Amino acid sequence: MIKKIPHRLYLTEDQMPTQWYNLRADMKEKPEAMLNPATGKPVQPEDLYPVFCEKLAHQELDDTTRYIDIPDEILEMYKNYRPSPLCRAYNLERALETPAKIYYKFEGNNTSGSHKLNSAIAQAYYAKEQGLKGLTTETGAGQWGTALSEACCYFGIPLTVYMVKASYEQKPFRKSIMETFGAAVIASPSSTTEAGRKILAENPDTTGSLGCAISEAVEKAVTTEGYKYVLGSVLNQVLLHQSIIGMESAKAMEILGEYPDIVIGCAGGGSNLGGLIAPFMRDKLTGKASPRIIAVEPASCPSLTRGKFVYDFCDTGKITPMAKMYTLGCTFTPSPIHAGGLRYHGMAPIISKLYHDGYMEAVAVEQTKVFEAATFFAKYESILPAPESAHAIRTAIDEAIKCKETGEEKTILFGLTGTGFFDMTAYNAFHEGTMNDYIPTDEDLQKGFDNLPKIPGIQE
Ligand SMILES: *Cc1c(COP(=O)(O)O)cnc(C)c1O
Repeated sequence: MIKKIPHRLYLTEDQMPTQWYNLRADMKEKPEAMLNPATGKPVQPEDLYPVFCEKLAHQELDDTTRYIDIPDEILEMYKNYRPSPLCRAYNLERALETPAKIYYKFEGNNTSGSHKLNSAIAQAYYAKEQGLKGLTTETGAGQWGTALSEACCYFGIPLTVYMVKASYEQKPFRKSIMETFGAAVIASPSSTTEAGRKILAENPDTTGSLGCAISEAVEKAVTTEGYKYVLGSVLNQVLLHQSIIGMESAKAMEILGEYPDIVIGCAGGGSNLGGLIAPFMRDKLTGKASPRIIAVEPASCPSLTRGKFVYDFCDTGKITPMAKMYTLGCTFTPSPIHAGGLRYHGMAPIISKLYHDGYMEAVAVEQTKVFEAATFFAKYESILPAPESAHAIRTAIDEAIKCKETGEEKTILFGLTGTGFFDMTAYNAFHEGTMNDYIPTDEDLQKGFDNLPKIPGIQE
C-alpha cells in the first residue's frame, strides 16, 4: 500500500523557520498591559531589567513586531534536536476506527524530554549576550530545570536550580541529568537562603513547595551580583520562543497539502499551546481560515474553565509584574496531580485574552481519563507520553470519536509536548487503580480568589 503522507515528516534543516512569530502583532485587541505592582502603572522595559535580560524585557512588551529573527547561535543549538517531526497517527486512527486524520507535533525528542528547551535556549543565549554571570530558577516536576541546564551548559552560563524537595527525593535521576549538564541542584527548602532557613526553622521535615523554591531562586538571583532569575512558561517572551513549534507544524502541513480543522494543546502556563497555535490563530485573526482551537487543562487546576479574568501575579512569590489573565489566584495550591507541569494557578495573558474574546475553547479533563488516553496512545504510536501531553491526547481522541459518530473527515492536529519516562510512579498508580480524580470545590477555589491582589482604581 502506498501512502502519500508519511508516518513521520521531518523538515530538512534548510526548511526550518528562521523567525519566531509574535502573535500579539495580529491581535486587534492586545492583551492588557502588565502592571508594576509597586505603582499600579503599566510596566516599562526598564521596570523589567532587574528581573529579565534587556532583550527579553523588550520581547516581553513588544506587541507590534510580527516576525523576529532567531539569532544564528540559537538556530545552531535548535538544530541539535530540530526540526521536530510532524507525525500522522495512522495506527491510532485505525484503532479508533475514525475517519478523522490525526496529526501530532512531537517535542519529546531531546534529552530534557519536552518543548521547554525551545525557550530555555533563547533565555540562556540572551543572558550570555548581556554578559550575565549566572542564572537561577526553580523546578517542580523537573522538565524546566533539565531544559535550562542543557541550555546553560551549551552557552557556558552557571545555573543554580532549586528543586522542590519532594521531587528531588522522588526523581533522583532528574537531578543527575541536570548535574551532568553542570547545574548546581539544591533541594528546596535549603539553608542557602534566608527564605529557606526560615521555612526549615518552622518546619524541618517539610518536603517543600513550588512557591518556596521560587522564593529561594529569586532571593539567590537578587543577592548575587550579575545573576538573574528565569521563568519557563506564561510570559509573552516564552510563547514567542515556542512559536517555532507552530511555524514548523504549519510548514510541514503545507508541504503535505493539509490544514487542521481542529488544533489541540495541553495548557499549564500556556507556552506550548501558544506556540503551537500561533500561525493557525494568525490565520483566524486575519480571516484566512477558521480552525477550532482547544486548550486542555486538568480538572484539578482549571484556570480557564473555572478561573477569573483579572490581574494577578505570574508567580507564587509575587515578584513578577501583574498580568491580566485567567487565574485561580497565586495562592491557590492544586492537589498533587501527576501532571506536575500543568499545576499552575494562571494562564498566559495571550491565551487568556484570546479565550476571553472567543477565539478559542477550553476543556478540563480528569486524571484517570488522561491516563487511559496515554496508555491507549502508547500502545498504537509507540511513544510513552508525558502526563501533561496526554491531556491533549485525551481531547484529540474524543474529537476523533465524535468524527466516527458523525462520519466527518476532520483533520486534527495536537501537540505532543514530551515523554513520560520520569512519570512512572503515576503510570503505576494508574495500572494499580489507586489514581484518583480530585476536583476542587467552589469553596476551595474561593480561597484563592479571596487573595487576589487589589489595585486602586483598577481592581478593588
Ligand atoms: C511544562 C510542560 C507542559 C506545560 O507547560 P506549558 O507552558 O503550558 O506548555 C506541558 N507538557 C510538558 C511535557 C511539560 O514539561
